[in-house]
Amino acid sequence: MATKKNNTLKLKFESARSYAPAPESRSAATINERYELFINGKFDKPQGKKYFDSINPATEEKLSSIAEAGAADVDRAVKAARNAYDTTWKKMPGKERGKYIFRIARMMQERARELAVVETLDGGKPIRESRDFDVPTAANHFFYYAGWADKLEYAFPAKKPQSLGVAGQIVPWNFPLLMAAWKIAPALATGNTVVLKPAENTSLTALRLAEIIQEADLPPGVVNIITGAGATGAALVNHPDVNKIAFTGSTEVGKIIARSIAGTNKKATLELGGKAANIIFDDAPLDQAVEGVVNGIFFNQGHVCCAGSRLYVQESVYKEVLRKLKDRLETLIVGDPMDKNTDIGAINSKEQLNNINKYLKIGQQEGAEMYQSSVPIPAKGFYCRPTIFTNVAQSSRISQEEIFGPVLTIQTFRTEDEVIEKANNSPYGLSAGVWTDKGSKIFNLTTKLRAGVVWANTYNQFDPASPFGGYKESGYGREGGLHGLAPYLNLS
Ligand code: NAD
Repeated sequence: MATKKNNTLKLKFESARSYAPAPESRSAATINERYELFINGKFDKPQGKKYFDSINPATEEKLSSIAEAGAADVDRAVKAARNAYDTTWKKMPGKERGKYIFRIARMMQERARELAVVETLDGGKPIRESRDFDVPTAANHFFYYAGWADKLEYAFPAKKPQSLGVAGQIVPWNFPLLMAAWKIAPALATGNTVVLKPAENTSLTALRLAEIIQEADLPPGVVNIITGAGATGAALVNHPDVNKIAFTGSTEVGKIIARSIAGTNKKATLELGGKAANIIFDDAPLDQAVEGVVNGIFFNQGHVCCAGSRLYVQESVYKEVLRKLKDRLETLIVGDPMDKNTDIGAINSKEQLNNINKYLKIGQQEGAEMYQSSVPIPAKGFYCRPTIFTNVAQSSRISQEEIFGPVLTIQTFRTEDEVIEKANNSPYGLSAGVWTDKGSKIFNLTTKLRAGVVWANTYNQFDPASPFGGYKESGYGREGGLHGLAPYLNLS
């Protein structure tokens, strides 16, 4: 009897996953064999003549060679940014700066398909996400901040907003183009010039953005994009002529940066790691909540700083939620990120996949129960099945540490106070989610949860007008919205 039921379920899941392939065309974007550094409006070779490989994590094939900027190149980029700041950008009226930013936004929209294809090939995220989320949201940030460029005195009444100078900006690999937009758009709107370093695994869309910036005729040196790994980032952070550091990445590197700029005049915003609690009360619409949980952790392979990686379910609906979640997991398609049917693409690098697998072992050693979907995964490339851990202790490493993969821990609770305490029992404080029918519970939790963003009856919603940022080890400062202008200004 049980075997018959299992076979029926297996058939149901297989048919739910059996869509005909719908691949996006790779020909929508050509990728050069080699990419140089974008300094002072031109693409230029690195002085050390070093290049590193960029790999497609879905297939492990090499996509391109990327220039590695050494300290001398960082210095050239900072000098170009300083010169552009002194001679052009800080003197330009906000209205004129705004026109350039609008132009960049429009050109991103015109090249949206190409940007989405490059983002997916380079980073492994499903084309649906690159196309429907990353690229349009990145363009929207430029549109939004273009509008502020000539209105800074209205943004900060009774203040005299002054730009800072040269901003050194460093971004991670999970939202390469979007994070570049989060950084560059407000810096330009506030009259600063930029040296941006993308992550070494995912440089290609930032370099595409450099091409757009060149075509948009932005004065040379206003935006410089230099590629490389941690040493390049450190040289930028420690350059004496940088006035502001904007960093998004791991808490570990954020701490190194905070230490190295302590005692200098450099301003900083640090957007760091997270371990968000997603909370389901028994009065929540459970199907929607389960969908929100799936979107919150399995979206973008769990490579999301604000991923809802800790699920807390009220005890009375725990069994039902777990059953629905497991059923839903079985219907998720893991595989070729260029296929429009794919829900979960490739893990961004072998190193990251190894790190996730390390946590899968730790979770089992800690006594938690692991459940993985039975979905098939490609033999080549870096993939991880969506994974759930139950029977998890609050103090366990899988519940406390950021895994940054499609891995969800589940615990139960009885009362509001209990779940608030459990949710706040984390070194991080970036985001959280609450699912309930009661507005009063939402208000209670949003005021008591120590998280920069709390979503209610939804998850992972972003808008350029909304600020984003964390508490505790998730960093400091806000990006997005009106709040995102302030870190780029002296407000006297
Ligand atoms: P990472 O810290 O390893 O690298 C981030 C960037 O810093 C990369 O460009 C890297 O080359 C550079 N870097 C490395 N060492 C450096 C150093 N010593 N000095 C200066 N720069 C250095 O992070 P990652 O693995 O690329 O990204 C994942 C992390 O980013 C996760 O922890 C995630 O939560 C976090 N993240 C946070 C947010 C947010 O808004 N809070 C958004 C996205 C990602």
